[in-house]
Amino acid sequence: MKKIGILGSTGSIGTQTLDIVRSNSDLQVVALAAGSNVSLMEKQIREFKPKLCVMWSEEAARELRIKTADLPLQVLSGMEGLLTLAVLEEMEVLVTAIVGMIGIKPTIAAIEAGKTIALANKETLVTAGHIIMPLAAEKKVPILPVDSEHSAIFQSMNGENKKRVSKILLTASGGPFRGRKKEELKDITVEDALKHPNWSMGRKITVDSSTLVNKGLEVIEAKWLFGVEPENIQVIVQPQSIIHSMVEYEDGAVMAQLGTPDMKLPIQYALFYPDRRPMDGKRIDFYELGSITFEKPDTETFKGLSMAYDAIRVGGSMPTVFNAANEMSVSLFLNRKIKFLEIYDLIQGAMENHKVVANPSVEEILEAETAAYEFIRSNRK
Ligand code: NAD
Ligand code: MG
Repeated sequence: MKKIGILGSTGSIGTQTLDIVRSNSDLQVVALAAGSNVSLMEKQIREFKPKLCVMWSEEAARELRIKTADLPLQVLSGMEGLLTLAVLEEMEVLVTAIVGMIGIKPTIAAIEAGKTIALANKETLVTAGHIIMPLAAEKKVPILPVDSEHSAIFQSMNGENKKRVSKILLTASGGPFRGRKKEELKDITVEDALKHPNWSMGRKITVDSSTLVNKGLEVIEAKWLFGVEPENIQVIVQPQSIIHSMVEYEDGAVMAQLGTPDMKLPIQYALFYPDRRPMDGKRIDFYELGSITFEKPDTETFKGLSMAYDAIRVGGSMPTVFNAANEMSVSLFLNRKIKFLEIYDLIQGAMENHKVVANPSVEEILEAETAAYEFIRSNRK
């Protein structure tokens, strides 16, 4: 029996992780955490019977305690709750499916306690990769990627000598606005941005996919996970989302992982690595597919990707500012407070305004986050 905890169990990755638990009787859920969706959390608790549950707000936790008073369950709240969950004695694997930098502290606590991390929460690696990766190495804790591209890269490196990698070829769908120019993006609505052509995901990452910020975050995530410098990570638009990423070796061989766009595969792979388990679902029909096409990303229009390369080249606290400014801008866009293209303006402004701290501590990362938020609060039109 493998005992798992999930940060963000009510979200897109969280609910799909629970689907994997449903079809594998040797997985047991011991802890769940979420933001505010009390009714879904109550259903999950009654089905999976964890011993610990955390809601971000104390108000939600209070409501949940009343609803689950008949169960032997501990309900906590806030960062203290997340940190308690992260080190829960019997938990072996923590699935980090929470969205945003809020995942940094719990992820670090879990690594310190020796828990295996199945990592979906890319913002954590983007901002604190320089702390997390060495710590995981020191504690001999595996960080198993859940992000589909990174899982594909990980699978393409199985059994290979990592020193012989020459390039990571990170694929991108191009998002819903692929082919459009800046002029045609001015009046993009929230509804337009939430229509991803191939993947069904949470709202924030779906907007990130439409700006190519998501691909930018993934370049930085790949740098930390695989120790490859950004100039050796090439983004390739592959609109059908069939090739989930590739690795080129020094002899010119390219290894790739292909599949239908379904996050359940990378989630299940992380949970059972190095084993593979059977899984239902659609298979690629290559006759029906006919062709797989490739394009260069349009980084002039979709500046999310070029800004991410700038951020990681500068390094230190700059990726944090890139990420934090994006988190806040996307939230403003989703709340219809700013227009689509202002997301880029605000990220760029916050980055230009930032005084870089080299090798930032967790506290300095959180200070850079606050400064980016403050910059946006006082500079949005
Ligand atoms: P989502 O918005 O669907 O779900 C986020 C989850 O986190 C929810 O359960 C929410 O309640 C919880 N949460 C948010 N704030 C919280 C807080 N302060 N305390 C406790 N819980 C909190 O997001 P998602 O699409 O599942 O994405 C989760 C992470 O996985 C993100 O980092 C995303 O970039 C990454 N990811 C997602 C996908 C995907 O297909 N959805 C693919 C690759 C990577
Ligand atoms: Mg991805």
